[in-house]
Amino acid sequence: MKKYNLPVILLRGIVLLPQNTLKLEFDSKNIDNNVIDMSLLFHDNYILVISEYSKDNTPKIGVLSKIKNSIELPNGNTRVDIQGLRRVKTLEFLNLNKSLEPLESIVSDISIPKVDKEDIIINKLVKEIKAYIRNIPYISNSMISLIENEKDLNKFTDIVVPTLISSHSRLLEYLKEIDPSIRSEMLLKDIYQEKELFQIERNIDMKIKKKLDDTQKEYFLKEKIQLMKEELGEASLKDTEVDKLRKKIRKLSCPLKIKERLNFELNRYENSISSSPETSIIRDYIDWLLNLPWNIYTDDNIDLKAVKKELDNSHFGLEDVKQRIIEYLAVRQMSKEVNSPIICLVGPPGVGKTSLAFSIAKAIGKNFVKMSVGGIRDESEIIGHRRTYIGANPGRIISSMKKAKSNNPLFLIDEIDKMSSDYKGDPTSSLLSVLDREQNKYFSDNYIEEDYDLSQVLFVLTANYIENIPEALKDRLEIIEISGYTEFEKLDIVKKHLFPKVVKNNGLNKDFINISDNVILKIIRNYTKEAGVRELERQLDKIVRKVVTQIVMNNIKINKINIDEKVLEKYLGFEKYRYNTKTKSQVGVVNGLAYTVYGGDTLPIEVNYYKGQGNLILTGSLGEVMKESASIALSYLKSNYKLYKLDYDKITNNDIHIHVPEGAIKKDGPSAGIALTLAILSALSDKKINSDIALTGEITLRGHVLAIGGLKEKSLGALRSGIKKIIIPKENEKDLIELPKEVKDNIEFIKVKDFKEIYEVVYNG
Ligand code: ADP
Repeated sequence: MKKYNLPVILLRGIVLLPQNTLKLEFDSKNIDNNVIDMSLLFHDNYILVISEYSKDNTPKIGVLSKIKNSIELPNGNTRVDIQGLRRVKTLEFLNLNKSLEPLESIVSDISIPKVDKEDIIINKLVKEIKAYIRNIPYISNSMISLIENEKDLNKFTDIVVPTLISSHSRLLEYLKEIDPSIRSEMLLKDIYQEKELFQIERNIDMKIKKKLDDTQKEYFLKEKIQLMKEELGEASLKDTEVDKLRKKIRKLSCPLKIKERLNFELNRYENSISSSPETSIIRDYIDWLLNLPWNIYTDDNIDLKAVKKELDNSHFGLEDVKQRIIEYLAVRQMSKEVNSPIICLVGPPGVGKTSLAFSIAKAIGKNFVKMSVGGIRDESEIIGHRRTYIGANPGRIISSMKKAKSNNPLFLIDEIDKMSSDYKGDPTSSLLSVLDREQNKYFSDNYIEEDYDLSQVLFVLTANYIENIPEALKDRLEIIEISGYTEFEKLDIVKKHLFPKVVKNNGLNKDFINISDNVILKIIRNYTKEAGVRELERQLDKIVRKVVTQIVMNNIKINKINIDEKVLEKYLGFEKYRYNTKTKSQVGVVNGLAYTVYGGDTLPIEVNYYKGQGNLILTGSLGEVMKESASIALSYLKSNYKLYKLDYDKITNNDIHIHVPEGAIKKDGPSAGIALTLAILSALSDKKINSDIALTGEITLRGHVLAIGGLKEKSLGALRSGIKKIIIPKENEKDLIELPKEVKDNIEFIKVKDFKEIYEVVYNG
């Protein structure tokens, strides 16, 4: 094997393979300049290029190369083009430790192993390389033309490797490998690997691209829809809506927390798909938050004289009620932070509870809102349903606050005595937390989720019966009772308030219709039966409406119309009720007194007896307590039969039947005790009871007479029925002061402690 000397160029970081060229530039002071000179002068331009050098002097594979061009540059540097020719083996390095001498090496040629089926391998390689580079943009296609005509695998591999392989270490491996078939195997392996990598990369790229594509697609579609809408003159509804909402939120005067919540929900809304049910839930919620009066306050007029004036102007009478309202407002003003009690107006329907509350609001300058809790059983009606429920809504408190349009309205809660509770929770306790000033600052509605401040609200409650107000609530209330009106009070209310109001509401001048007191009294007595004036107002309205219709239909031109008793029947039909038509005094019939939804009324009690075994039969829809009263009455008379000169056998050998008309109306309570006892006594002793007398009072087994409620109402009812004398428990004497003058003037009150006194009054008085 031939050996020869060659000057050596050592490369760092680059690899020169045979068949490839390398451009190098040398500094004029560089020692390698001498190597170039040496090659050009003594070695016929041949040179050895060593890409991997170590000082251990072990044999290495180098590339026998030839300097093709050598140009002296203006700066004194030399640029050379070196063409790699073939692999040679270094046997020895010379001048290794002589830093000033150019490096030389003794090399020998290498015999290249023969390759079987060289053309097949080349074809295969060409095919693979073509397929591979098709996907790689940075490899020039010109390489294909270079290799397509190359039939020598040894050369072929060296030509393609530097283009396809970029790793330095891998290039060195190619350099060291003498066998072309092994190099072609290496090459195939590398191509496969690269292809696989490329595929993986492509997959990732595709995935990323798809992601981008999807968002882009959505973006483009949205853009397109927007453009189409703009083209059609309708900008994206949702976008404009969101814009409007955002502006509204910015302007909304509310706690910071609410603003944050609103912005959060608006973003959710903006990003939601229109068709999703969630979208409308979010939208509704935003609307609720936006439309609640969070920080809207009206200015209170604290001039109590003006308030009193307004109450006087709008309501007749009710002097003590008005006085208590004024006192309440005065105390509330003085002690703003104190958890003062809440006004509760108690009285029968139509006595002006609602309209009084409205007048208070008007006088103070507060907005007014009314909510009825009658019939509420479920606390969620008050505090709302969670939004997760389909069709959920806030409770009535929040809904009413929205209607109120201010954060400090007068809030009327109606019919608190008609609430009940069931398994779904106790509405009373929810109501308590609404009313309590310490808790209601942070009132929480299930739907709204955020705290709402109710502490500035002026709550006013109403109820019909004091007894039916839940005890827990009663403790917190300042009860103001409004009882029914007497006929003459009603007359005044009609003249001063209701009639002018009704006439005005129907678009007429107040002097247009003339109605006499007698006619009004007739309406009161025969067309209405109530403690208040609601039905009365309705009847007056009916009359005025008919008058108006008549005028319009017949085109009548008149200045004044007179309503007398004769036309009354034409307008209102037949009389509905009859008072003062007293039945004759009878055996076994007694006037009790009741307090019903219509106010006070007489309650006739009838007793008959017939052959039997001393049974007590009770009819007329009597409640448990009233039935017990009847038993007590009978027992009392049995045990005192001698005192009342009764025949004991008559009691035991007969059945006693007690009936209280009107049979369909439910009656209950202990206050008919003495009336029941007297009715039984009258029947058994066969003595008439004067029908001018009425009685009210509870009876004990010992015959004691105990106090009753609703005396004012009952005495008003008695007055209407023409009663002249009422027997009442001595304990109720204090209530007489409150009775209207009309009642006091016309009725004599007899106060008793024991039933024996009643006997004296009725039969010997
Ligand atoms: P309630 O709430 O007690 O059931 P309302 O307040 O609805 O009764 O009263 C019914 C009607 O009677 C209203 O039009 C009201 O103005 C009128 N009214 C009641 N009491 C008076 C009164 N004292 N003076 C003037 N109008 C009255």
